[in-house]
Parts: sequence; structure tokens; C-alpha cells
Amino acid sequence: MSRTRDDTNPPMNFEDTHERSMIRQTAAEIAEQYGPEHWREKEENGEFSTEFWNELGDAGFHGLLVPEEYDGAGMGMQEMGLAMETLCAEGCGMAGTWYLVLTAGMAAVGIRENGTEEQKELYLPDIATGARNFSIGITEPEAGTNTLNVATRAEKDSAEQSSADPAEATASADGDEYVLNGKKAWITFADRADNMILVTRTTPREEVDRGTDGISLFVVDMDDPNIDVSPISKHAMNYSKSCEVFFEDVRVPEENLLGEEDDGWWVLVDMLNPERIGFAAAGTGIGKLASNAAIQYANDREIFGAPIGTHQAVSFPITEAYAKMETAALMREKAAWLYDQGEDCGYETNVAKATAVDAGIEAVKHSMQAFGGWGYATEYDVERWWREINLTRLAPVSQQMAYNHIGQQLGFPKSY
Ligand SMILES: Cc1cc2nc3c(=O)[nH]c(=O)nc-3n(C[C@H](O)[C@H](O)[C@H](O)COP(=O)(O)OP(=O)(O)OC[C@H]3O[C@@H](n4cnc5c(N)ncnc54)[C@H](O)[C@@H]3O)c2cc1C
Repeated sequence: MSRTRDDTNPPMNFEDTHERSMIRQTAAEIAEQYGPEHWREKEENGEFSTEFWNELGDAGFHGLLVPEEYDGAGMGMQEMGLAMETLCAEGCGMAGTWYLVLTAGMAAVGIRENGTEEQKELYLPDIATGARNFSIGITEPEAGTNTLNVATRAEKDSAEQSSADPAEATASADGDEYVLNGKKAWITFADRADNMILVTRTTPREEVDRGTDGISLFVVDMDDPNIDVSPISKHAMNYSKSCEVFFEDVRVPEENLLGEEDDGWWVLVDMLNPERIGFAAAGTGIGKLASNAAIQYANDREIFGAPIGTHQAVSFPITEAYAKMETAALMREKAAWLYDQGEDCGYETNVAKATAVDAGIEAVKHSMQAFGGWGYATEYDVERWWREINLTRLAPVSQQMAYNHIGQQLGFPKSY
């Protein structure tokens, strides 16, 4: 159903609460400590930043979305978006979102909203401290953007029947198991994560009426010898690895099912909206970081007897992109507010993600131009921010797919 233009304007509160200003201040302090030089070195060495990960834990950022009874801060996506944008904008670039979005964002809300009591007790306190790192296994080489076509299979198998050793069978006879087979691509942190939230089919697509039926999610322990992980060489963010992951007869107990069997699509949707909000924060955050660096450079660099920033050909494109980033950030706040109220927010998260990324890309592109030839030198970092922001137009939802969703909500025919 298409929406009318006046049905999505909840009252907004622009008050800067004590919590928000604390988050902004803490994020800025962390970003000062883990600024561009840190990430330039980590990128060049292809090294995960354990020290930054631990710092986020000490600051309580891994636990922002974890309820207080599981040792978290009990906050929402508005606060998480603010933390991410500030980290990105104040010096961390994409790492400000990247190190939070999968575990502290997607895994935390997936388990918080859909986990059993046992799953919450097992995973949430460890997520809150940073003791546990999750990867999220959605993408497959053949299915690509069309997640409903995932083919990784989870088939129920009795532990009693499957074990050749009767003693072992008795030991595990109190619960059934699922057997996983399939292949995932681009799974970030799969090389080091303790767990993966894995998207599978428990019923093949040909056997369900609606494509959204038949999908099930599992929490998988990554130390299983039947899981093979192989990093993909990539364009940027080499302070993390994104991997192909192969599952061959991987057995998981049924208590690792997240949500209901065959009904996992809705669990996944719960996790995708925070991811889009996180990438909206990355778009404006990286864009602001590059813009601020370019503004300083444009004041200092004198050519033809005046700072290059006096030329409107240099200043206007960055200013225009900055103004658009400010409006996109407001849309992110609205999307996050709706998410935190438990309201539908698919339209708003897609608008926030798409506009933040468009504006952020413009900002980084024109900032690089302001640096002239030096924009191409690694020591000024803007070329790295350009490589980093390129990801945000391809993932987690591509710009085309975000606009497909928005267009459909406006009343255009469905195009995917
Ligand atoms: C660095 C990196 C990290 C990643 N981390 C993860 C991760 O941790 N977990 C995970 O599950 N995935 C991850 N991904 C995967 C990412 O989400 C996918 O790359 C993305 O979903 C696109 O899938 P694809 O590459 O197969 O593109 P394809 O589906 O092959 O699409 C190719 C192009 O066609 C366009 N297109 C396709 N269909 C349509 C249509 N109907 N209308 C308009 N345009 C269309 C797409 O927008 C895209 O531009 C990561 C990707 C990268 C690059």
C-alpha cells in the first residue's frame, strides 16, 4: 500500500539529553585517541584493532542496545546512531560504524527481540562487554541482493539417529539437531567471530507460497571444524576481513534456532533496520570527517595569492553536501526514533540510508578535489575515506535497492 505524505510525522524532540551529550563526548574522546593515523596504519597492515574494540567495550558502547538486566545500557538506535556518527566524524571514519554494527547492533537486537531466555542470558552480557564477537551470514554468491533466494539448508536430524556411537547418542538424546550445508559470501569478521547469526532455508523456496516463508536463523559456534573460512581480498576496510564461508554437515542443536522455524524472515527484518541506520550514520559521519579536513586544508593552502577556500568552486560543493548531510542525519534520528518506539520504519530507514550515503559520497568526492594531488596521497587520508564510503553505496542494501523500496512505498510498481 502506498503511503500519503502526511502520515509519517511523529512529534520530534530536539532536546539534548544528558545521555546524548555524554555519548557524543565519549565518542569524540575515543575518536581522538583512535584517529586517522591509527586507521591508516591498521588499513596498511591489514590488522584488526583489538585496542579500539576493547575501548568501545570499556565505554559501554557494545552494550548500548542490551537491556540493563543483561548488563547493558538499555538504550536505543537513536543513541547508537549518534555514537556511530560521532565516532566516524571525529576521526575513525568507517570503523566507527563497522566495529559496532554487526555485534552491538544487529546481533544485540536480533537476540534481544527474538531470543529465548537462555539465549539472552548466554549471549547478551558478553555482547555488552565486547567479550563476544558476532558475524552475520546473509549474503550468498548466487542469491546476492535477493535474500529470499538463499539456499543454505538447515535440515532437522535427530541426534540419536545420527550418532554412530550409542554412548554419544544417549548423551545428546535430549535435543534434536539441525544439519547445515551451504555457502556464504562477504561475511565480515567470520575469520575471528565467536558466533554467526546464519540465515538458512528450512523449507526450499519452491515449496513455500510466499518467499518470506521457510527461512530460519541460527546462532552458530564458529569453532566448528566443518566450517571453512576464506577471506576475500578487498578495496578498503582491511582492518577487518570479509570472507567466504562454507558449511559442510555442520550440526547445531535446536536451541540455537533464533525465533521460530520457517519464520526467520521477520527476525532478520528486525536486524536489518538497525543496520541501515548504522550505515546512514557512517554516510554522514565519513562525509563530515572528510569535509572538516578539507575545510581546514582550504583555509591553509594558498595558491594564486589567496586560500583556495575563497574560491566558491572549492567551497560550495562541500557546503552543499554538508547541508544535505545535516538533513539526512535528521532523517536518521526520525527512523531510529520510530524503531525505538517499535513502529514500522522501513520507509524511513531506507530514506535515511540512501540520502546520507548520497550526500556523504558527494562530500568525500569534493573534499578529495579540494586536496588536489595531495588528495591522492595516503598521508592525507581522504583517499582512504573515499574507498571506505564506496562500501556504503553497495551494502548492506545497495542504493538502487533502497530507492526501489522507497519508490514502491510512494506508489510505483514493485521493481524487484
Ligand atoms: C566489504 C563488504 C562487507 C560485507 N559484509 C557482509 C556481511 O557481513 N554479511 C553479509 O551477509 N553480507 C555482507 N556483504 C554483502 C553485501 O551486503 C552484498 O554485496 C550486497 O548485498 C550485494 O549483493 P551482490 O554483491 O551479490 O550484488 P548483486 O545482487 O549481484 O547486485 C549487483 C548490482 O545490481 C543491482 N541490482 C540487483 N537487483 C536490482 C534491482 N531489482 N533493481 C535495481 N538494481 C538491482 C544491485 O543494487 C547491485 O548494484 C558485504 C559486502 C562487502 C563488499
